[in-house]
Amino acid sequence: MKGSQLLAIVEKELATVRKHLERIEHPDEKVDHDSNGDLADQADGHTQTIDVVTRTSMLHRQLAELSDAKARCLKAMDAEVTCAACGKAIDDERLELVPENALCCTCQAIEERRRRRSV
Ligand SMILES: [Zn+2]
Repeated sequence: MKGSQLLAIVEKELATVRKHLERIEHPDEKVDHDSNGDLADQADGHTQTIDVVTRTSMLHRQLAELSDAKARCLKAMDAEVTCAACGKAIDDERLELVPENALCCTCQAIEERRRRRSV
């Protein structure tokens, strides 16, 4: 997949994440409903404070990762999106599923194993 194609996916994902964050951080304000419905459980209010905190930090991390991905795309619009570690092309399906992914399957597996060891 080319950087320009991934950029379109990243932009869409960024908009979704921002919308979710907005809804969590400003629950009183009216935000457009989308069909996802995965935040419906938030309606319980105060009892779910911890969940909301966890979710907010997750979304913030995703936002940062997506911003990084966007910067990578902008740098290489006409080039194939490649793994940040080994430089090989990353599978299209993988990018469509997790557009902020900077690593190929192989390197991701290595990275996860290393992360698990260091915890
Ligand atoms: Zn790799």
